[in-house]
Amino acid sequence: MPEGDSILRAARTLDRALAGRTVTRFHSVFPHLTRVDHDHPLRGRTVERVTPRGKHLLMWFSGDLVLHTHMRMKGSWHLYRPGERWMRPRHDMRIVIATDAWEAVAFNVPTAALLDAREADQAGTLAGLGPDVLAPGFDQDEATERLEALADVEIADALLDQHALAGIGNIYKSEALFASRVSPFVRVGDVPPARLAAVIRAARRLMQAHASETARPGPRAVYGRSGQPCRVCGTVIRRRAQGPHARSTYWCPRCQRDGRSA
Ligand SMILES: [Zn+2]
Repeated sequence: MPEGDSILRAARTLDRALAGRTVTRFHSVFPHLTRVDHDHPLRGRTVERVTPRGKHLLMWFSGDLVLHTHMRMKGSWHLYRPGERWMRPRHDMRIVIATDAWEAVAFNVPTAALLDAREADQAGTLAGLGPDVLAPGFDQDEATERLEALADVEIADALLDQHALAGIGNIYKSEALFASRVSPFVRVGDVPPARLAAVIRAARRLMQAHASETARPGPRAVYGRSGQPCRVCGTVIRRRAQGPHARSTYWCPRCQRDGRSA
């Protein structure tokens, strides 16, 4: 599933391929997009840039039009050369943006909208999205405060709440909690603010390492390792479905005893 870091990569790749190029063809199975395209055609516009925002991807066109897509669990963007065979079936196609050199295809994207630039600027804040963990101007204090507001929520679940922090997915939820030695099951209200800040810093550091094209991400400490020994203490790593959406949480019961141990 796409996490903030893979959205960041997708945005970078799309930006490199498309920015500065003219749209030669637009096609979508979403009627609300084709309706906007009918009134304000994308064809002939220049792709100005492609930017990530949390789990959302924004494609900015000349003349004040922005394509906003949300990947959720199954959505993805692919890039093909014109005429190249797609790696997904045609019926998974939702949007095609073609230039003379590339065809960008969105598959299984559940949510898409064409907005003007002002709406796009507000899209994040209107939806109440928290600070984007991978954004250059990341506001650590605001992120900590937003997390603190979820006092009754177990911390692993709170980290997935995009209204607190945008961009953390299931993998980095478990990895960040292990890195900061905080139990996934403590309520946020039982974790001192300094420890919360440490969890956020860990998530940011791990996700930045993963998103970086030069740094190789280290091996995962807990995610996907249930039944294997903890790399720190040798205790068997465990997995449990957690929260209303039963998302897998991986943790070391010895290293991550509560919200206070360091
Ligand atoms: Zn351990």
